[in-house]
Amino acid sequence: MDLKVKNKCAIVTGASRGVGKGIALALAKEGAYVVINYNKSEESCKEVVNEIVKNGGRALAVKADLANPQDCVKLINAAEKEFGCVDILINNAGIWLKNWIQDITLDEWKKTMDVNLTSVFLTSQAFIKKNILQKRNGKILNITSQAAFHGATTGHAHYAASKAGVVALTVSMAREMARYGINVNAVALGMVKTDMVSKALENNEDYYINRIPIGRVATPDDIGKIVMFMVSEAADYITGATIDATGGMLMR
Ligand code: NDP
Repeated sequence: MDLKVKNKCAIVTGASRGVGKGIALALAKEGAYVVINYNKSEESCKEVVNEIVKNGGRALAVKADLANPQDCVKLINAAEKEFGCVDILINNAGIWLKNWIQDITLDEWKKTMDVNLTSVFLTSQAFIKKNILQKRNGKILNITSQAAFHGATTGHAHYAASKAGVVALTVSMAREMARYGINVNAVALGMVKTDMVSKALENNEDYYINRIPIGRVATPDDIGKIVMFMVSEAADYITGATIDATGGMLMR
């Protein structure tokens, strides 16, 4: 099936490693121009860009700390400057701070909300403003978590709250943006083998595997393919949905 993302410009936040990298590589494979956002991992971001370019694709690395509101807007502007427009925005960057509810500090709470939720609002708003002005259709895809529905089980209440916020924001944006031809959806992840959860998996693998009916943790490549479908023309009739890509960890 032709997914029709060839020559479209896609921004992936937090694409220097992990799930974001998997999504960026999947998009590039289908011929999209990809903006690879990073904050701290400059070297590994360059490697992602080089891999795409080596395979004949186009990619641009953009440093932006999404905890900073100006950087959220800067990212969208940088993509437009390079590629002329932005068709797809994938809000993937996230942090998973661990602390139990009685010990979570206000700083930890605010940092989690800034990176995981406020940045999704700000990048989406900048994307939407441009696309409405240019009368262009678009796709926004937000990465959330099974914890948005289930709550945290291992000391991440602030994270679960931020990801539940992403789900509600996705639905509200989808409703408002449908008339402009902008689809807004989310993909909820369960466990994906990345740096974010490597310690948790090392210490407690059985606990997680036992909660996954499919019997294995996902790879970034698994998620890349699912996201690819969600931002393609094949999913034009889906908006306001959260697709659960959890190997059955979340069934609702
Ligand atoms: P990783 O920790 O492996 O990677 C996180 C990515 O986010 C990095 O590219 C990092 O960039 C970027 N990032 C973090 N903070 C910022 C910031 N302030 N500004 C810009 N970029 C930032 O995480 P995953 O790949 O595992 O997670 C990706 C998404 O999937 C997250 O939203 C996460 O919540 C969600 N998720 C993951 C699950 C899992 O099991 N892995 C489960 C459920 C949801 P850099 O290194 O350059 O700073």
